Amino acid sequence: MTEFKCKALVVGGGPAGLATAGLLAQAGVDTVCLAPIAADDQRTVAIMEPSLRLLRSLGVWDDALQAACAPLEQLHIIDDTGDLITAPDLRFHAEEVGLKAFGWNVPLAVLLPALRARAIAMAARVLETNMASATLSEAHVTALTTSGEQIEAEFGVAADGRLSALRGLAGIKVDEWSYDQSALVTRFQHSRTHEYVSTEWHKRGGPFTTVPMAGNASALVWMDKPVVTAARAALPLEALAREIQLQNHGTLGLISDVAKPAVFAMRGVKSDVFAARRVYLVGEAAHVFPPVGAQGLNMSMRDAGHVLDVVLAHDDSGCAAAMQEYQSLRLPDVLPRQTAISFMNRSLLLNDLAPNLLRVAGLAAVSAVPMIRKLALREGLSPSGKLPFVMRSQQV
Ligand SMILES: Cc1cc2nc3c(=O)[nH]c(=O)nc-3n(C[C@H](O)[C@H](O)[C@H](O)COP(=O)(O)OP(=O)(O)OC[C@H]3O[C@@H](n4cnc5c(N)ncnc54)[C@H](O)[C@@H]3O)c2cc1C
Repeated sequence: MTEFKCKALVVGGGPAGLATAGLLAQAGVDTVCLAPIAADDQRTVAIMEPSLRLLRSLGVWDDALQAACAPLEQLHIIDDTGDLITAPDLRFHAEEVGLKAFGWNVPLAVLLPALRARAIAMAARVLETNMASATLSEAHVTALTTSGEQIEAEFGVAADGRLSALRGLAGIKVDEWSYDQSALVTRFQHSRTHEYVSTEWHKRGGPFTTVPMAGNASALVWMDKPVVTAARAALPLEALAREIQLQNHGTLGLISDVAKPAVFAMRGVKSDVFAARRVYLVGEAAHVFPPVGAQGLNMSMRDAGHVLDVVLAHDDSGCAAAMQEYQSLRLPDVLPRQTAISFMNRSLLLNDLAPNLLRVAGLAAVSAVPMIRKLALREGLSPSGKLPFVMRSQQV
């Protein structure tokens, strides 16, 4: 059996795990990352400016990656529920917050290999294998992999996704639920330019969001009841193109070259505890919610940045004080955001008057009251609390 001793053991090869491993290794922390190669993921993720700072600081945001991505200069929210009382259109410009772009839309298929390569270049030992089991003691986290390695670390990072086994071993209990919703994800070409505007159409079954990609192309995340989504996903691609064109009211012109769609079931995971027994939770191991307002991965990047800050501040990075510090940094960022997004999403699913009036009133307030508008913009980009150091340390 091969045995490794290290300071940090990161379990998970998604964006949260690879970013955390890269950051730790770059800071000189001896890191092993268990990162099985993921199946092709055709999702794109809107990465906002603070998270881009993290990618820049990691040396990942280079010309090659940028060429595959598109800037998000405007965000447009349209109430397309067809209800009697609808919210006003909301259009935000990045210039309002002194930026050229709120962020960039990045294909995961390009981001993941870039993060993996960077973590390896920073001397993290990235093993393409799964954690099979782990034991947690007073002083160590010890894991066995499915390919027979044993790794003993001072602390662990659970980046193993929604069903996180390491989270369970740390004794952290979470609330889990399913939404009566799934998301159809695809990309397509269009005859009109997107002008770098991301548009979220709020429909009765959930948001229909187009996000600019490089060239005259956009990504689509379209949420609806699972049976409706499944039927759409089974359509011939030409018929799906017509349906997309209808749903965005022709704003992108003629739709063509729709990629074979993928379907994601919508689930929620909520934790009140973000670290315990020498294990930090990051990414979907800590929080899962619907892709509304592009918050999931951006929050995961803040998890990664805060793990780094806490680890560097403590000689024993798995001690109770370090766990407590991480908890106090993550809880006020994650919980209010998760609650707001779940509410927004559920109000679209419910036909009840009260939650819908509240949603409409909220959006109207954001539209009409400059102070609320500014607050919404700021909170959409980053939390009012403390940003991790790597997200504070450089300008655009
Ligand atoms: C349709 C959709 C669109 C989205 N769009 C956006 C967006 O625009 N902006 C945004 O910020 N967020 C977005 N999100 C959310 C974002 O995609 C997630 O937050 C992010 O992908 C989660 O990354 P992760 O690394 O935590 O989890 P995952 O990507 O699930 O990675 C977990 C990894 O752990 C590995 N793993 C599991 N078990 C083990 C084990 N035992 N040993 C080793 N490895 C293990 C898995 O193989 C996997 O690679 C979207 C989500 C969806 C569903």
